[in-house]
Amino acid sequence: MVSMPTLPLVGATPGHICPFDQACSYLEAAAKELSLDQGILEILSHPRRVVTVSIPVKLDNGDIRVLAGHRVQHSDILGPYKGGTRYHPAVTVNEVSALAMLMTWKCALLGIPYGGAKGGIAIDPQNYSVSELERITRRYTSELIKDIGPALDIPAPDVGTSAREMAWMMDTYSMNVGHAVPGVVTGKPLSVGGSRGREMATGRGVMIIVREALADLGKSLDGVRVVIQGFGNVGGAAAELLYQAGAKIIAVSTAEGGIFANDGLDIPALKAYAAENHKSIVGFPQSEPIKNAELLTLSCDVLIPAALENQITEENVDQIQAQIVAEAANGPVTLEANRVLEARGVTVLPDILANAGGVVVSYLEWVQGLSYLFWDEERVNREMEHLMVQAYRQVMQQSKMRQVPLRLAAYTLGVGRVAQALSDRGLYP
Ligand code: GLU
Repeated sequence: MVSMPTLPLVGATPGHICPFDQACSYLEAAAKELSLDQGILEILSHPRRVVTVSIPVKLDNGDIRVLAGHRVQHSDILGPYKGGTRYHPAVTVNEVSALAMLMTWKCALLGIPYGGAKGGIAIDPQNYSVSELERITRRYTSELIKDIGPALDIPAPDVGTSAREMAWMMDTYSMNVGHAVPGVVTGKPLSVGGSRGREMATGRGVMIIVREALADLGKSLDGVRVVIQGFGNVGGAAAELLYQAGAKIIAVSTAEGGIFANDGLDIPALKAYAAENHKSIVGFPQSEPIKNAELLTLSCDVLIPAALENQITEENVDQIQAQIVAEAANGPVTLEANRVLEARGVTVLPDILANAGGVVVSYLEWVQGLSYLFWDEERVNREMEHLMVQAYRQVMQQSKMRQVPLRLAAYTLGVGRVAQALSDRGLYP
């Protein structure tokens, strides 16, 4: 199979791991496994639209700064574009394009009627005041007014954003079109049409997939030793739910550093400590400080990278001791490291399955909004669990049938469904 050239549309960062190339490599592997038509592969290797806008913002001190905002719409073959909005200094068009492609496969794998997209602004939100962030978010939304909408492209939270930014986006969109449009974003606060269970959803999904994978190995969550990189929206929720289910969380970290406790951390106490200390966990009583690099290589049963991409690389993969790696972040394991882990027989639960709980509850939020009927948390969690377990079983079955690792199995399902829809719809004109 011919390898796709990197698209000029998407750009690249010389000398760095190229996220879009990595995403295309997984797509190509799936295409080969499925014996996909070369033309279909070519279409799926290109994002449909790449939008970059200028965001001029007046800072609190009166200075004006111009930021770049991106939204990449990879595919809408199965339904409206869907995916988060990331605020992080490392955001590039290339990264956002890779993440948009992942969203396409993730939604298809979970059987939810969406395509894939991703947006982002290359800022460290910690360097901006709340009112500056509000102005940035509103201007970004306003610049994208023709590109987003409840039947077109539906943003959601991602790294560096939360329900607060979604409320600003929903309000800006609504003010521009002249009426309230809650369905333009998901992950909103409950007060404006958010769903119960959305905040914990990605972490809950991770817990469910880890639980299922352990069950297949004849184990339960009770007493299992878990290491989590990241203690934000995803890592924090996963830690809490795994702790409640009896797992021993022996180490967690944030960008500032990590903590370790051989007998397991008291996660509810740690959450309270982080809330009092501006999200910092370092210095938590009855724990030892640990560097992020050491944390990844601790001896444990389950390692959950829940921060950013490219954390497990050729450099540290040989020291990884976990039996299960659950990708709560998007793309935390590089292509080469993935090969090594799979060859060693480590169970790698791929991002498009392991972290899909967030977009699943986004979908449930959108459905509730469209039907003007809101459910209690128990129902939301039940519906989400059903979709997650169903996708997990399909991936396991596909893996056995094709004799391939779980990531390739998940990709063949996701890519296969999009390719099928593409050939049924046909090429326009
Ligand atoms: N940002 C999350 C993800 O990567 C959620 C996306 C969404 O809910 O649309 O899956």
